[in-house]
Amino acid sequence: MIHPKLHLTRWFAGAVLALSAAAVLAAQQLSPQVQTAYVKVDAPVIALTNARVIDGTGGPVRQAQTIVIRDGVIAAVGDAPGVTAPDGATIIDLAGKTVLPGFVMVHEHLYYPVGSGVYGQLGESFTRLYLAGGVTTMRTGGNVNGFMDLNMKLAIDRGQKPGPTIDATAPYLNGPNNFIQMRTMKGPDDARRQVAYWADEGFTSFKAYMQITRAELGAAIDEAHKRGMKITGHLCSVTYSEAADLGIDNLEHGFLASTDFVPSKAPDACPGQGAGQQAIEALDEQGEPFRALVKKLVDRRVALTSTLTVFETFTPGRPKPPGLEVLLPILKEQFDRSYERTSANTTSIYARLFPKALALERAFDRAGGLLIAGTDPTGSGGVIPGFSNQRQIELLVEAGFTPVEAVQIGTSNGAKYLGRDTLIGTIAAGKQADLVVVTGDPSTTIADIRNVDTVFKRGVGFDPAKLVASVSGRVGLW
Ligand SMILES: [Zn+2]
Repeated sequence: MIHPKLHLTRWFAGAVLALSAAAVLAAQQLSPQVQTAYVKVDAPVIALTNARVIDGTGGPVRQAQTIVIRDGVIAAVGDAPGVTAPDGATIIDLAGKTVLPGFVMVHEHLYYPVGSGVYGQLGESFTRLYLAGGVTTMRTGGNVNGFMDLNMKLAIDRGQKPGPTIDATAPYLNGPNNFIQMRTMKGPDDARRQVAYWADEGFTSFKAYMQITRAELGAAIDEAHKRGMKITGHLCSVTYSEAADLGIDNLEHGFLASTDFVPSKAPDACPGQGAGQQAIEALDEQGEPFRALVKKLVDRRVALTSTLTVFETFTPGRPKPPGLEVLLPILKEQFDRSYERTSANTTSIYARLFPKALALERAFDRAGGLLIAGTDPTGSGGVIPGFSNQRQIELLVEAGFTPVEAVQIGTSNGAKYLGRDTLIGTIAAGKQADLVVVTGDPSTTIADIRNVDTVFKRGVGFDPAKLVASVSGRVGLW
C-alpha cells in the first residue's frame, strides 16, 4: 500500500531536486525572512573592485582585481582595463581586502557532543555558523539524526534557511558498536539495503564506520557506486589498503584512523583506534610500508580528508580553539574543563602524534594524492563550525603548505572530490559566485582568514556577524 500523502511528498521532493539542479547557475532565491535577517549585499549586478584575489587554483595571488557578479554567477574577473564595473552595477570597493572562493569542506556534521555518548542535533545553529565562517558547500561526514541533514539541505536550497549547499551523508554504516544513536548492520545484504534505503530517500553520500566488515563495506561501495554516489570511511576494522582494494572513494582523519600498521591486526576486527595511532606514531614516513600505502591510495584515486582541527583539541600545548563563546555557557564550561585536562596531560601520545599527522598528510599531497579538508565538530567539543573551518586552513599552513595551497585544499580540492569543480571551488568567469571576502591578506598572514567581512553564496552577500549573533550563546540548543 502506498499512502497517498507519502507518495505526494516524495514526488514533491523529487521535483524540488530537479528544479534546483537546473537552476544551479542562478542567484540564490531567499525567503523574505532570511533576506531581512542575514543579507547585506543583493543586487542583479555587483562589481567587487580593488580586490586581492586568491582564486583557489593554487596560482599566484592577483592584486587590484575586479570581480563582476551577475545573477549569481561570476561574469568576469580581471584587472583594468580588461574588466571594469558595468554601468548600473552595485560597486563595492575592496581595497585592503582579499577574495577567496567559498570553502568546500567535507567532514562537517550537524551534531555535537553535548554529554557523555550523546550527540545533540544542532542543524539550525551549525548551518548558520558554517556559512558565517565562509563555507558555501559542505559534505556532512556522517549523521546520527536520520533525516535532518537532508531536510536542512532542501530547506537551504529553497532559500528558507541560510547555510551552505549540503552534500547530505546518510546515517553511518557500521557493525556492532556502542553508540546509542547508531544502527548496527547485520551483514553485506543489510549494508546494501541500508544504502539503497537512504539513497531512495534522497541522501547523496555515505560513510562507513569503525566496526564495518570488509564484506559489508564492499557491498555498500558497490550499491553506492551503482547509484553514482561516493562513500567515505572513518575506518578501523578495515585497513586503508583493504578499503582501497574494495574501491572506497575517500578516507577520513588523515592517517590517524589507519590500522594498516598494527602488527597483530586481525581481519574485520578493530584493534582500537589507540592501537592504530600508536603504530602511526612509530611509523617512518620515509619508509617503504608508508610509501607503498600512499602509492596505492594515489593509484586508486582515494582522497584523504584532513581533520586536524579535532585532533588539535586532543593535543597538549595548543592554543584554545576559536569560537567557543557561541556555545551555551554550560557547554563552554564543559570544554574549558576538558581543555585544562588536555593541557595538563603533557605525556599524551598526541604531543607526538599531532605533528606526525601534519607530516603524513603533507607527504600524501606531495605524492600526488587528493587531500581535502574538513573539521569534524566532535571530540570533546572544541571544534566550532565556521571558526574551525578557518582554523583548519591555518593548520594546513602549519603542516607546511603555503597559504595559497592551503586555500586550494579547502576550496577546489573539495569541489573536485564532490565532482562539482566546473561550478564551484575557484574564482573564474562562469563559476557560481561563492566567495569569501576577508579583511587583510591571508597569503602573507594566514590568520587574516578569520576576518570574514562578507560571504557570497550564489551571488548573495551574507553578513557573518548577523549569522553568528543569531545563535551566539545558544549553540547547543538547536
Ligand atoms: Zn566525524
